[in-house]
Amino acid sequence: MTKLFFVFCFIVNFCFAQTITQCKYRFDNYLNFKGSLNNRVQFQNDVIYLLNAKGKKETAIYANEIDVLARFLTHNSFVNQQKLLQNKGLKKFTKLQRDSLSAKIIDKRKVVSQDKNLPLKGFRVAIDPGHTAVNLTDAQIEQKFLYFVKDSILNPYDTIKLFESVLTYNTAQLVQKMLEEQGAQVLITRNKHSNNSFNCHYSAWLANNKKRVLDSLKTAKVLPNSKYNSLCKMSDRDLFWEFFRDFDLNNRAKIMNDFNPHVSLIIHYNVDEKNEPWKQVSKKNYTMAFIGGAFTSANLDKPENRIHFLRLLLTDQLDQSEKLAANSVNCSSKNLNIPVASQFDAGYLKDNCLFSGSAGVFCRNLNMCRLINSPLVYGESLYQDNEFECVALMKTDVNYKNIITNDRTLLVAKSYYQAVFDFLKK
Ligand SMILES: [Zn+2]
Repeated sequence: MTKLFFVFCFIVNFCFAQTITQCKYRFDNYLNFKGSLNNRVQFQNDVIYLLNAKGKKETAIYANEIDVLARFLTHNSFVNQQKLLQNKGLKKFTKLQRDSLSAKIIDKRKVVSQDKNLPLKGFRVAIDPGHTAVNLTDAQIEQKFLYFVKDSILNPYDTIKLFESVLTYNTAQLVQKMLEEQGAQVLITRNKHSNNSFNCHYSAWLANNKKRVLDSLKTAKVLPNSKYNSLCKMSDRDLFWEFFRDFDLNNRAKIMNDFNPHVSLIIHYNVDEKNEPWKQVSKKNYTMAFIGGAFTSANLDKPENRIHFLRLLLTDQLDQSEKLAANSVNCSSKNLNIPVASQFDAGYLKDNCLFSGSAGVFCRNLNMCRLINSPLVYGESLYQDNEFECVALMKTDVNYKNIITNDRTLLVAKSYYQAVFDFLKK
């Protein structure tokens, strides 16, 4: 009897240890930026503690709670996640509490209908085409454009003019078309290449929404008076960087999360960082992708970040994101014939990211990587300022099912499409 009891305990502990082990793996491989969280998270045999900056235990997650909490965090709004985790603190849920929590979870991502002619039927894909500026005035503020004469000596009229926002939107439309043809439902966070996620230009937002938005945030006590006053007085450019950029990103993530996507794509085009201020071409070109993770201790001081951190720790979203991003990097590298970036190919990869273990995939605590509640890839397929890419991306000589584009953008889109298709079908 004693022996049997021992075996039973061993099996139970072994199962729990496995689950804690999975969280520990995510913590070590994706989340803990260069040991920064060593004093903020404690792993024990059957419990994980989150500590505050002074070393006091704030949240406890017991081994037998991991499964139900992971499902709860996946299928609930941020507000509900916040309420649950704040109330939980160090308490241990009873079996009754775990069962009643489990019974309340509605899995909105269950794929019920299958159709062999439409292999992606039932799947939802959210796409955020990065940035918004499509004219030089807005682009001067957002700083995401290239405008230079490629060869001022031999060819002084050979002007390069590229807006990242236009490229990302064009790519998103192509990926949408390809995925919808396979039955997927696709959401794009902005309705026009020139619009932000509030479906207007920044200048229109300033004229029509700025005052109302700042006033309501002040009333809701999200903005303290001093911050409110300084934002009201700020130049349009400073307000963009101090407030609007994150405000827009939060809104993009909210739109995507409300859609309950099975997969999220955040589309960007990169530049060679060493080529700043990007007034000439670069010989370099690399493909890479980001996923969430790489939290610092300072990141955990913000209460809302602790909720996102716990979701990324307890669910398998980071493991899934690594698979999706690795697919995406492989497809981009093959289709575009561009090398995959290593940690030593850009300063930010070495200084701000953790290498995930898959070639070209890096954990980085970018807003979108942290806020989106689904497996995701934040793609940087190529360098726009590369000597060949900048010319090829300017072209509008390809018509893909009524979407005007060019060979390179089409290959970028196909790479995302193939990556998502393989990921969802597996
Ligand atoms: Zn970008």
